Amino acid sequence: MIHPPNVLLLIESLTLQCLAIVLGACVGSFLNVVIYRVPAGLSILYPPSRCPHCLRQLAPRDNIPVIGWFLIGGKCRYCHSPVSWRYPAIEAATGFLFWCLAAYFGTSISIPMLCFYAAFLSWLLALALIDIDTMTLPNALTQSGLVLGLIYQASLVFIKSGDRTSLAGHVIFGIGGAVLGIWLLDIMRIAGRVFLQKEAMGGGDPKLAAMLGMWLGWQNILLTILIASAIGTLVGAIALLSKGIDKQQPIPFGPFLALGGAICLFLGNSILSTYLGWFGLT
Ligand SMILES: [Zn+2]
Repeated sequence: MIHPPNVLLLIESLTLQCLAIVLGACVGSFLNVVIYRVPAGLSILYPPSRCPHCLRQLAPRDNIPVIGWFLIGGKCRYCHSPVSWRYPAIEAATGFLFWCLAAYFGTSISIPMLCFYAAFLSWLLALALIDIDTMTLPNALTQSGLVLGLIYQASLVFIKSGDRTSLAGHVIFGIGGAVLGIWLLDIMRIAGRVFLQKEAMGGGDPKLAAMLGMWLGWQNILLTILIASAIGTLVGAIALLSKGIDKQQPIPFGPFLALGGAICLFLGNSILSTYLGWFGLT
C-alpha cells in the first residue's frame, strides 16, 4: 500500500520530470540556433529563426520543439526545402538530458542546483556538436562556460543544503580543477606532437578542459580526462579498423571530453568513492 506522503512525493517527482522534458526541448531549440550561428560569427538573438534556404521567418507554430518539425513534414512551409532531422533530434536529446537530471537527482538537490546542472549539460551538448561540425570549440562558449562554472562554485554555499565548505573553499576547488584541466590537456597536446609528429589535439580542447575542471573540481577533472581518453581511443581504434572511413580524417576530442564531463556530473563522486574504497581511503 502506498502511503499518502509517498503519493505526494511521486506526484512531485513526476511533475518535475515532465517539466524538465518540456524545458529541455525548448532549450534544445535555442541550442540549434547556437550550434548553427556561433561558429559562423552570427548573432544568436537576431534575426529570429528562419529557413536557411528562403530566409523566410518561421511561424510560431513551426518553432514548437520536436512537434513543429513533424507538423511541417520535415520541409520548409514556404520553399519546401528539406529541414534536417538534426533539429528535432537535438531538441529531443536536450529534453532527454534534462529528464536524466530530474530523474537522477530529483528533489535531492535544490532547484537552483538543477538549473546550474542543466546549463552545464546544455553548454557541453552545444560544444560537442559544434566540434563535430567544424572541428573548433568557440572561445565564446568555452570562456562563458568557465565563468558560469566560477559563478556556480561561488553560489554553492547558498544553494547546496548541508554544505560545510566555505565560499573560498568552493572557488579554490573550481580554480584548481580548471588549472589542472589546462595542464593535463597541454601535456597531452605536447606528447601528441612529439610521438605522433602531428597536431593531435585542437587549441580549444585545453580551454574546454579548464571549463570542465571549474565545474567538476580537481578529482573529477582527472576522471573526466581518463574517461574521455578511454572512449576516444576506443572510437579511434574502431574507425581505424572499419572499412570505408577516411583514416586521415581527424577525430575531434571535444565530444569525448564533453561526454566524460557529463558522465562525471552524474556518477563522478560515486566512481571516485568506490575507487578510493578499494584502497581503504574512504
Ligand atoms: Zn524555406
